[in-house]
Amino acid sequence: MARQPLFDDLEIGEIALQLDDQEPEDVIAWALETFDEDRIAIVTALQADGMVILDMAYRMKPNIRVMTVDTGRLPQATYDFYEQVRERYPEARFEVLFPDYREVEEMVRRHGINLFYKSVPMRLLCCHVRKVRPLIRALNQLDAWFTGLRRDQWASRAAIRKVEIDHDHDGVIKINPLADWTKEDVWAYIEEFDVPKHPLYAEGYTSIGCAPCTRPIQPGEDDRAGRWWWETNAPKECGIHCPIETGGFEHEMEAIV
Ligand code: SF4
Repeated sequence: MARQPLFDDLEIGEIALQLDDQEPEDVIAWALETFDEDRIAIVTALQADGMVILDMAYRMKPNIRVMTVDTGRLPQATYDFYEQVRERYPEARFEVLFPDYREVEEMVRRHGINLFYKSVPMRLLCCHVRKVRPLIRALNQLDAWFTGLRRDQWASRAAIRKVEIDHDHDGVIKINPLADWTKEDVWAYIEEFDVPKHPLYAEGYTSIGCAPCTRPIQPGEDDRAGRWWWETNAPKECGIHCPIETGGFEHEMEAIV
């Protein structure tokens, strides 16, 4: 069903102002009351921030939709953790989004299976095919989605609002309940409510993505430094949360997708 815009930019700006000093639970409650339960979902890679939102939302609406993308290159620990999370929140409606196998096959035929190590544009192409495209297909079926973004995670996230129109994804409403939380707030909540923790945090990971593109950080490094660690002067983003220059590989993306 096509999306009917519920708010324009001015209206969503006013709502964002009203919600900006509200607690995450208040932001989540507003969203759950505003949008049809089949047209709103948590999109999460099961990292700490997303788990906090899942835990909060589950207390208000146990049958919340929960989407996660399986790129095909995730660590085994993530698959194991996914099963643990499903058991902890049995009434939630979990959905795994997969890339289009034809797009993956064409990308691999052209550039190899480990193309992400060759250049930043190649890495972005892989993220686009394996991660962003499946998400876009899912977002097209929604009016709103929750993310675990926080302003202190990375420079590209410093100006996010708690509610915004996601013009990069056809106007779907993007809800960032933890926008003004710190990492310490997140972990305090997790400990207080005994929220399941991805096991790789105990091994020094601070941001967890695909196995070949994620490693534990070194002392003093930024929390997202373990993502695509070989890249310099590139955004620690896959393209889901902000448009990224692809260095001339737009024609590759167009040809493949
Ligand atoms: Fe591909 Fe790495 Fe992006 Fe995963 S994180 S989609 S393996 S480039």
